[in-house]
Amino acid sequence: MRLLLVEDDGALAQQLKAALTEAGFVVDVASDGIDAEFRGQTEAYDAIVLDLGLPGMDGLSVLHRWRDANRDVPVLILTARNRFHDKLSGFNAGADDFLSKPFHTEELLLRLRALIRRSTGHAAPVLVCGALSLDVNATKFSLDGESLALTAQEHRILAYLLHHAGRVVSRTELGEHVYDVGYDPDSNVIDVMIGRIRRKLCPHELLKTRRGQGFILQAAD
Ligand code: CA
Repeated sequence: MRLLLVEDDGALAQQLKAALTEAGFVVDVASDGIDAEFRGQTEAYDAIVLDLGLPGMDGLSVLHRWRDANRDVPVLILTARNRFHDKLSGFNAGADDFLSKPFHTEELLLRLRALIRRSTGHAAPVLVCGALSLDVNATKFSLDGESLALTAQEHRILAYLLHHAGRVVSRTELGEHVYDVGYDPDSNVIDVMIGRIRRKLCPHELLKTRRGQGFILQAAD
């Protein structure tokens, strides 16, 4: 899952980026409102963490512009002030959740995972597809009830496909959501990873390639 972190406090941004990366997210950072607005309009994110006080354009204006353009990505606002007025303005601008500074990184992670899970249509924190399951909060996959060992890249790819199970996900979409801006869409890394994941899911044929379309994670009927 790929996040945009909008935070102009450089030290906090680096600390949060490290924690979010450690937790398995791919993270792009924007440090002013104008860059944030552009990235949110042009890049594919699974959730956005948005600071309110920003140089260039304030966070609420950035959020208004995304929503006016029908960008429906979940947005969690970071606010230094735990004031009702800020929350009211934020919800009216289209925010999905709030966190007041200072906060525990673990709470940010829990809230982001819940936002992403709900935005992809999953009510429960354990996602299941046949013999495969993912405990979203523990970030652990199981196959037939046994822990499934995956590399960080394999984990990101399989987590994205499981959040979107039953739907064909194109190679382009997958690349946008599991790699950062440096990803080369012409590379074959995704196909290599898909092959490895498929072998790890044996004997279950859950992950299928649809030629010319992409990949689908689906339990047998
Ligand atoms: Ca700020």
